[in-house]
Amino acid sequence: MKIIYSTIKNNVVEIDRSFEFEDFLDIYLVKEFKGRLEKVGKRYILSGDLSYSLTSKCDRCLESMAVDGEAVISQVISNVEIVSDEVDSDGLTDEEIDVYVTAIDHFDIDEFLREEVLLLAPSKKLCSEECGGINY
Ligand SMILES: [Zn+2]
Repeated sequence: MKIIYSTIKNNVVEIDRSFEFEDFLDIYLVKEFKGRLEKVGKRYILSGDLSYSLTSKCDRCLESMAVDGEAVISQVISNVEIVSDEVDSDGLTDEEIDVYVTAIDHFDIDEFLREEVLLLAPSKKLCSEECGGINY
């Protein structure tokens, strides 16, 4: 879902998203993201609760496995990059406050959530910590 900045009323948008996506052979599900995007000065603050799951195959035994996770999201979003030699009213540059820079006219919330889930999900996919691998 794309949030078009110029359509935001009263500087805030309530967000409720759930969708599925694939990455190679893995299936990720954004079970729910409930939050809001709020304009603060020149930037926006995205905050909310994310729950997700990943369905994949165990790296060791190749059995299918699934993991669930949750995260609290709090991210500064900006459609205008404030470069390092330019300081905003907080006296901070974008690099110093970890800003997620979007297109000038819209914020693609699904793309953001996709990246977030890929970062949060474990890179080692195991059906269990004790998995002994494939039994021959
Ligand atoms: Zn396994």
